[in-house]
Amino acid sequence: MAANPVVVCTWSGSQDGIPVGAEEALTLGRRVASATEAPLRWLVPGPLPEGALETAGRFGADGVDQLEDAALESFSPDAYVAALAGYCQQESPALVIFSQAADTRVVAPRLAGRLGAGVVMNGVGVAVGEGGGLEATASAYGGDTQMVYELSGAPSYVVALAANALLPEPAEGGPTQPGCRSISPDLAGVEERVRVVEQARTEGPRLEDAEIIVSGGRGLGGPENYKLIEQLAEALGGLAGASRPIVDEGWVDSSQQVGLTGKITRPALYLAAGISGASQHMAGCSAAKTIVAINRDPDAAIFRYARYGLVGDCLEILPELIRAARQ
Ligand SMILES: Cc1cc2nc3c(=O)[nH]c(=O)nc-3n(C[C@H](O)[C@H](O)[C@H](O)COP(=O)(O)OP(=O)(O)OC[C@H]3O[C@@H](n4cnc5c(N)ncnc54)[C@H](O)[C@@H]3O)c2cc1C
Repeated sequence: MAANPVVVCTWSGSQDGIPVGAEEALTLGRRVASATEAPLRWLVPGPLPEGALETAGRFGADGVDQLEDAALESFSPDAYVAALAGYCQQESPALVIFSQAADTRVVAPRLAGRLGAGVVMNGVGVAVGEGGGLEATASAYGGDTQMVYELSGAPSYVVALAANALLPEPAEGGPTQPGCRSISPDLAGVEERVRVVEQARTEGPRLEDAEIIVSGGRGLGGPENYKLIEQLAEALGGLAGASRPIVDEGWVDSSQQVGLTGKITRPALYLAAGISGASQHMAGCSAAKTIVAINRDPDAAIFRYARYGLVGDCLEILPELIRAARQ
């Protein structure tokens, strides 16, 4: 008898493009499925994105399951949790993998609660341990350390994979030919208790995909100086980011926050100006290939991570860098 399936669950709420993080989650799903000789299914509540079957095949999925209902057309937490719980009760997956984002933070623990399953958030990997059981590794304490959880004792497990935890890797040996099942969940009696008041800004290039990021922190001194960050980012062909305090202060939009509770990035170059290097900030940028830091405190923690460090006043150094980058 085949092992219980590994299910990767992602959604985008529209047909445009493959959901962010789906390829990474499918990569992890395939690794676990092949290590446990289980089928890999890609579960999509709501609209099936264009190219879903091609992507599923490229990443080695055995099939795509679409949950179809008018209530799933856009993200609605109560309907999504009910639909996913119904699906899991039917299919008994050994493992459900989500790509962690704001909406999956709401859904994954609630789904686990409904199923009596174990849940691991901030996951960075799942592998077969020495004893033959599954082990999930998760980032903990603001990214300072990693925890390894033995997945045993619960009927199934839910893991949310942190953004940029791994690189997408298509299946070796060419694409599979997955079929698509359309499933109508029973959503009678589900009442949506969460109302979306305002959609977060999502247009334009994303920090998570940027090759070059220039970020500013409290050391900039005031909101009027953030333009130096934007100008240097533009001159280098990159995007501007920020530490959390200056987002909280309202200097910049929250979509620009880098860190544990912001964006997890993996650029080639991360330039941090007036940022101390707290672990919660570094959780969002320590995967950068090269970190350059400007800080007037030579003992600032950021210099422990930086390949190049400039000790000095960022209000003097940034204009020089902008001039040089524009030449
Ligand atoms: C649960 C939790 C989640 C969090 N999530 C995040 C997150 O996602 N992202 C995040 O960023 N933070 C996060 N934080 C906050 C984090 O702990 C730090 O407080 C924050 O990152 C500090 O921001 P900062 O470096 O801009 O400010 P500060 O810590 O105040 O550092 C400012 C730095 O600027 C330097 N400086 C001052 N003036 C100048 C100057 N003129 N020129 C050069 N250098 C100068 C100082 O020496 C100092 O090192 C989180 C905290 C918690 C508890």
